[in-house]
Amino acid sequence: MIEKIVYADNAATTALSDVAFEEMRPYFQNFYGNASSVHSIGQDSKSALESSRKRIANAINALPNEIFFTSGGTESDNWALYGRLLMKNSRKGKHIITSYIEHSAVYRTCKFLETEGYEVTYLPADQYGRIAPEQLKQAIRDDTVLVSIMMANNEIGTIQPIKELCKIAHERKVMFHTDAVQAVGHIPVDVRDLGVDMLSLSAHKFRGPKGVGALYVRIGNILPPIIIGGGQEKNGRSGTENVPGVVGMAAALNEAVKNMQENTIKISAFRDKIIETVLQIDGAELTGDPVNRLPGIASFVFRGLTNAAIIAELSKVGICASSGSACSSGSTELTRSVDQALDKDNGQEPEHYLDEGKVALRLSFNECNTEEDIEYIIEKLPMVIATLRSKDLPYIVKKIGNQI
Ligand code: PLP
Repeated sequence: MIEKIVYADNAATTALSDVAFEEMRPYFQNFYGNASSVHSIGQDSKSALESSRKRIANAINALPNEIFFTSGGTESDNWALYGRLLMKNSRKGKHIITSYIEHSAVYRTCKFLETEGYEVTYLPADQYGRIAPEQLKQAIRDDTVLVSIMMANNEIGTIQPIKELCKIAHERKVMFHTDAVQAVGHIPVDVRDLGVDMLSLSAHKFRGPKGVGALYVRIGNILPPIIIGGGQEKNGRSGTENVPGVVGMAAALNEAVKNMQENTIKISAFRDKIIETVLQIDGAELTGDPVNRLPGIASFVFRGLTNAAIIAELSKVGICASSGSACSSGSTELTRSVDQALDKDNGQEPEHYLDEGKVALRLSFNECNTEEDIEYIIEKLPMVIATLRSKDLPYIVKKIGNQI
């Protein structure tokens, strides 16, 4: 019998906030019109869409006409990359710069673009998951058309110096996109201060609904569409608008920004308590930047542990955690960001290190977590690791070997 369920996987997705749910509700049943229809029911949806656009723009210091609604972070990232390459002035070249530690929505899109004749430079991160501005400076070429570097990493939580990186790209007249899916709603994001040309966000990471997001495109840039049809979103992104989704996203973001200071204090205290406890476990190491990290992400590797069943074992005691990004959380593979953090030599495409006996764990928190949740993890996690180690033959052999 599981004593308790503790959800510590908020970087994968979050519970919808009550405020967002209540604001969305009428748009399913009462105001169900198509926002493109000219009759009154349609116009109710249209005005909800436009007031949500204003709220989202305000939250990141953008103008409403710089916000385009999408189906989420993946689409926003894809659109930023493909759209930039379709722009008329992209003829100056076929070179893109990104990093090894991007989410697959950027990383795998870049890998695909390589097969289509584009050249991609993948900047390595240092052992804290940071991309050095100097490296970007050196990587920019005359034929570089886009730099895409994430604002905060989804696996290890490291926050990048986006303002500085963007300035370097702009000095060479190169457009800059940032995947801010893990950042928006969690840390202050001001597009004017950052100077970015494009920024991706996704509602379900800040307690909005799933399947809705936005791309910020700085005024003056016209991004060609990748989804073509009825011409919604000023011809930028066709498809009948997800009005309840957009309303929920705006409500959730408004709430997240309003409560950010208070939430950050609470959540980072949880994170730090977990980090302090876990680092007392033999072979545990923190991954990511010890200082510049998201308030809610605590990420570790356990050295000398070849048994990758950690997520399953935690789940048996009711703790929902992850080994990395949601797409790989069921997998036994360490992910790119963790690999980079472990690769002290750096500069190479990361190899997977599992054979050497390391297991990754990400615990991610938000304001829905309680002190009791944290106490429960503190009680159970060391026991789970000890149980796994007791079953871990290579580890036992090594331990005995060391004692001889
Ligand atoms: N980018 C980052 C950094 C993410 O963490 C995620 C989701 O895990 C995405 C993009 C994809 O967002 P979505 O799930 O809305 O498609």
